[in-house]
Amino acid sequence: MSARSAGLKRATNAGKDVSLRKPRLAGAPPGPLRLCRSCGAPSAIGERDALWPPAWHCAECGYAAPTADGISLLAPAQDQENEGFDLKSFDLLAKVEAEHFWFVARNELICWLVRRFAANARRVVEIGCGTGFTLYALREALPEAQIAGGELHSAGLAIASKRHGDAVELLQMDARDSGLVGAVDLVGAFDVLEHIADDGAALRGIAGMLRPGGTLIATVPQHPWLWSTADEVAHHQRRYRPRELADKATAAGFEPVYSPAL
Ligand SMILES: [Zn+2]
Repeated sequence: MSARSAGLKRATNAGKDVSLRKPRLAGAPPGPLRLCRSCGAPSAIGERDALWPPAWHCAECGYAAPTADGISLLAPAQDQENEGFDLKSFDLLAKVEAEHFWFVARNELICWLVRRFAANARRVVEIGCGTGFTLYALREALPEAQIAGGELHSAGLAIASKRHGDAVELLQMDARDSGLVGAVDLVGAFDVLEHIADDGAALRGIAGMLRPGGTLIATVPQHPWLWSTADEVAHHQRRYRPRELADKATAAGFEPVYSPAL
């Protein structure tokens, strides 16, 4: 069973969606930049550039990120780590999600949230994009935007690549340390944060990826009292208390703008 098929069981349970805005900072904002994974030197990301082109190399030290099937690996050491996801479940997940009402309905909800809270986003990253099913919702909501899918596990990205071809940039990355600074208008994290042991670090990492005033739209399971074996099978670290996500996001530098239970 996969994390998200456990999510299927949650369909009748309450979930929590949060839209969060990163406050604008005084002074010149940094970015959009990519920081060399080796020496940390910044390089500017041009208007229509990919976030991390596979051919990019650092002008300072010559470093180039390793690649696999045309995908830049920004956190290769974490690729096979399995803190919060059963890697074998990606194939099963891909089969289930295209047909199952929970995933289809969830994509409609995400499409609505994006149009309502980030209609003008031009550059988007979905973290924890898995097999890329939710990227369909982002493409539908923002047909003109440059959309990227980030995922710790390249096993998911291989499926996402078949689904989206060149329409989406795919990056093997760790949201806690993406190497992207002030680079995107919208980050989506759909049923991802509950898999991450240090979700505060992930939220800080996301805040760093966003330009000032940028938006995070996140969905998480809520109510610890609903914890069940399904959460354990799904490698969830937690279900969220009512204000927990908003509080953690505020501590990471966000300003909650919308936080319904759905
Ligand atoms: Zn470098």
